[in-house]
Amino acid sequence: MARIAYVNGRYRPLGEDAIAIEDRGYQFADGVYEVIKVLDGRPRDRERHLDRLERSLDALEIAPPMSRVALCAVLQEVLRRNRLEQALLYLQISRGAAPRNHAFPKRATPTLVVTARRPHFPSAAERADGVRVITQPDLRWGRCDIKSISLLPNVLARQAAAAAGCREAWLIDQAGNVTEGSASNAYIVDDAGRLITHPLGHRILGGITRSVVLELAQSAQIKVVERPFTLDEARRAREAALSSTSSLLLPVVAIDGAEVGDGRPGPVVRRLMELYAGHLEDGAA
Ligand code: PMP
Repeated sequence: MARIAYVNGRYRPLGEDAIAIEDRGYQFADGVYEVIKVLDGRPRDRERHLDRLERSLDALEIAPPMSRVALCAVLQEVLRRNRLEQALLYLQISRGAAPRNHAFPKRATPTLVVTARRPHFPSAAERADGVRVITQPDLRWGRCDIKSISLLPNVLARQAAAAAGCREAWLIDQAGNVTEGSASNAYIVDDAGRLITHPLGHRILGGITRSVVLELAQSAQIKVVERPFTLDEARRAREAALSSTSSLLLPVVAIDGAEVGDGRPGPVVRRLMELYAGHLEDGAA
């Protein structure tokens, strides 16, 4: 069965979609996106994702193409037409098509595309044994909090990780801090069992999974410290982890080939993985 995408008001088979050559998403990466996980037919943490989408649009002064209620109906219809109960929904909104000129066009209708695909969540082995990361310089711009479709530095970092046989690349800023991964947030656990992760702000994307994990940690009396941590600290940490909508929460057991702790997933991260699995079972919207 051909996959069906929503493209500007129409549902069409993927591959037959008609995006204008002068769409500003295509020419300038002038747009934003979201990825929402669907389990048992229900989008998870949907409201948090749609809140972030609104913040991203607002930051770029792109008008929402439709109301939240209408957008939710489109998401459900894409799922229905693709007959998917488990899925990753991808939504992209660009500023729209207009004759090429860097400045905003006077009139442009935002382009909305929604696709769904079968998810590839981490394997049982990755969850049980953890994953390895490499490090790469953080070459991104100064507004990483906007979920922009401009992802070239992330693409290059992830490619370097793939070439090294690793799951993810952790990005290191000029001060030597780990900001986050190419497409995930980064955490360490210190000797006191505290969960440390880079604070929100312009330097990282505020992950939806991150926000849930931090709430779960607090409710389980795991102390959370939102502060930058250095690569050196990460190398000496007791445990490490990464999180994203599609990777869920995963233990990180090696950084640049050097083991974190004893090279096995530790108790704090394993506990948080259980709590996150419980959160998904509860089916929070
Ligand atoms: N940081 C970056 C740079 C990302 O691309 C992602 C994934 N979209 C995340 C963090 C994790 O965000 P979320 O938990 O919302 O998927």
